[in-house]
Amino acid sequence: MNKTNVKSLSKNGLFHFVESLGLPRYRVDQLIRRLYKNYAVNIDEITEFSKDLRNILHDVAYISNIELVKQINSKDKTKKFLFSLEDLQTIESVLIPDEDRLTLCISSQVGCAMGCLFCQTARCGFARNLKSYEIADQIIAVNRIINPAKVTNIVLMGMGEPLANFDEVVDALWRIVQFLVISKRKITLSTAGIVPKLLLLPQKAPEINLAISLNATTDEVRNEIMPVNKRYPIKSLIDTCKKYPLQPGRRITFEYVMIDRKNDSPEDAYRLVKLLSGIRCKVNLIPINPYPGCELKRSPDEKILAFQKILLKNNLRAFIRESRGQDILAACGQLRAGYKP
Ligand code: SAH
Repeated sequence: MNKTNVKSLSKNGLFHFVESLGLPRYRVDQLIRRLYKNYAVNIDEITEFSKDLRNILHDVAYISNIELVKQINSKDKTKKFLFSLEDLQTIESVLIPDEDRLTLCISSQVGCAMGCLFCQTARCGFARNLKSYEIADQIIAVNRIINPAKVTNIVLMGMGEPLANFDEVVDALWRIVQFLVISKRKITLSTAGIVPKLLLLPQKAPEINLAISLNATTDEVRNEIMPVNKRYPIKSLIDTCKKYPLQPGRRITFEYVMIDRKNDSPEDAYRLVKLLSGIRCKVNLIPINPYPGCELKRSPDEKILAFQKILLKNNLRAFIRESRGQDILAACGQLRAGYKP
């Protein structure tokens, strides 16, 4: 008989599971508490259950865990974690402390199929989608490591394209909100712009924050640096953002990787202003972090500042964001599978 992984179960699933064993419903709350507040890694840690009950559970169920393979700490306090999965694939998560926040950048896939020119994950290709429990487990595992501190914010900006793994990501988001009790306002999903899934997201997922990796202002350039644009061009993406149901006080974040002589001209800045007019948003300008062998270069500082100035003058909120964790290859676009010890 196949054993049930209790971490793969939703609240409803847990009720059915508990019921199938003839146990009362309060056992569900005990399971949730042990798994998501005490980060239990095996059934013996569920000490509210008697030894006999734990033995019964051992026969029918187990708790899956991702395993820490390596942790690297950056000078700037960023920490990178390499985890191995049940099939020995590896993923990375990055913890970014900032004032009173502890933000964890989590992965949604092993590798990525988007093929963005500036991103190292893309160079490693795509291996597989993560399961919802593997996505949520990155938070559980890091919480266990940094105990008694706790991750406060989540960004789905690690390896992979979250909307290309839609169902598992949506499932994970519900689990993060309900079981790990992280507010939906403190969760941000970043996408390269898979339009049909973007239309579905507000119907299926909790109302989390949205970030769009725009990175160009013409289809010609965007096609070149983000192949996904050939299927979902800028206009379709921006039209979808215009219709996106935003909660009061929220803004869509547009991420714009600054690449020398590719997308950093004043004309680009003016086009960006025009594209984003009518959208409640902010823009994060991210100087590209070139990975070894990457031919794209970082825009000079004065061009980044001039670009920002045009956006600000035209009433766009625009910030320059330096990637953290550069000394440990934990910065944007540097997370990769295929780690070799
Ligand atoms: N697939 C998702 C999430 C992963 S990428 C997405 O496309 O949004 C997360 C962010 O890192 C994106 O905004 C992307 O544009 C940025 N990024 C990727 N590679 C980078 C690099 N080399 N330098 C700076 N930012 C990069």
